[in-house]
Amino acid sequence: MTPDFAVRGWCPGALRPMASGDGLVVRLRLPAGRLSPETAHAIADLSRRYGNGLIDLSARANLQLRGVRPEAHPPLIAALQALALLDPTPEAEARRNILVTPYIYSDDISARIAADLAARLRAPDAPDLPGKFGFAVDCGGGRPVLGAAPADIRIEATPAGPICRAEGLSMGRPVSAETAAGAALDLARWFIAAGGVQGHRGRMAALIARGVLPPEEWRSAPAAPSRPVPPPGPCAEGFLIAPEFGRLSADALDALAALGSLRLTPWRMVLIAGVRAIPDLGRALNERLIRDPADPRLRVSVCPGAPECPQARAATRDLARALAPMVPAGRGLHVSGCAKGCAHPAPEALTLTATAPDRFDLIAGGRAADPPLRRGLSPAALLADPRLLTHF
Ligand code: SF4
Repeated sequence: MTPDFAVRGWCPGALRPMASGDGLVVRLRLPAGRLSPETAHAIADLSRRYGNGLIDLSARANLQLRGVRPEAHPPLIAALQALALLDPTPEAEARRNILVTPYIYSDDISARIAADLAARLRAPDAPDLPGKFGFAVDCGGGRPVLGAAPADIRIEATPAGPICRAEGLSMGRPVSAETAAGAALDLARWFIAAGGVQGHRGRMAALIARGVLPPEEWRSAPAAPSRPVPPPGPCAEGFLIAPEFGRLSADALDALAALGSLRLTPWRMVLIAGVRAIPDLGRALNERLIRDPADPRLRVSVCPGAPECPQARAATRDLARALAPMVPAGRGLHVSGCAKGCAHPAPEALTLTATAPDRFDLIAGGRAADPPLRRGLSPAALLADPRLLTHF
């Protein structure tokens, strides 16, 4: 069946932005997800100057400047170049899809491996990988933390030392700081040779699920279970703060950068390094920067919806905000502007999928495109009787 939404098969970058309903989306792939206060302030300034002052955190720990006017793209690129945040070509940028653990332990080799991998992926002879294909480098503390985040090849910690493994397998191959990046590219080349790419699309887990396995040496060392996604609040290395629905204003980014160095996470949270508590940031920022792990908005995922996404059938964020307190503890709600389900591709306890302005279908225990239990619910009806969400 043909989906009634466009499947693009690639992610935006800075050099190759994506058109959206509110202008261009310019994605910044920050080296190892780290942001010095100076760079963070500079990005906030660029967002105001060339975009609409809104910045999204992506599920791959990138920043997305929204609302960039097409005529503002060239000066924005020049400014990003001056900040040393660009790759040499759009192709190199697309390949440098590397997620790095936000934690740094004394024995951590992640940043070193990530830099080595980035250099190899920028090289002209790097494997020509599909647009969504990505790497996770997650070597600290004897156990990975990025297990819930998307990746096709993982270089990750185990109690016996780091391994490189294909997504979809519970075994990998032992590596060291010196050999890890090269091993990851060997595995990427195997993925291509084994038929993992079709029409410039393809993911490692899908290839493995078809029963196509890498040679024995790639299945010789067991992976360690990933740590659970941490809640917002103080953590060993600083303070995790969760911008509401993964969105920062330029003012919020400035406020966080004033507190310390920032590390981006795939959990739509920002780690402020070395900070134990967040001061009063003023009412507007306090409300949108979640630090309480019990905040009900953390149970809700929501995409930009209308009018920001041209594919959206309805606005989503106000409804998500209003329904959040009504979602029972321990359950999740996904509000999706269309059946594509960008904000939460996995099944969720409750999903509302927009089908028309002010009309949503309710799916229980499924994805945004799955058959609904109820059809045509209006936001007014849902807010008037939240039992519609849970009593079926
Ligand atoms: S799920 Fe949301 S962001 Fe994705 S295409 Fe549909 S409306 Fe747009």
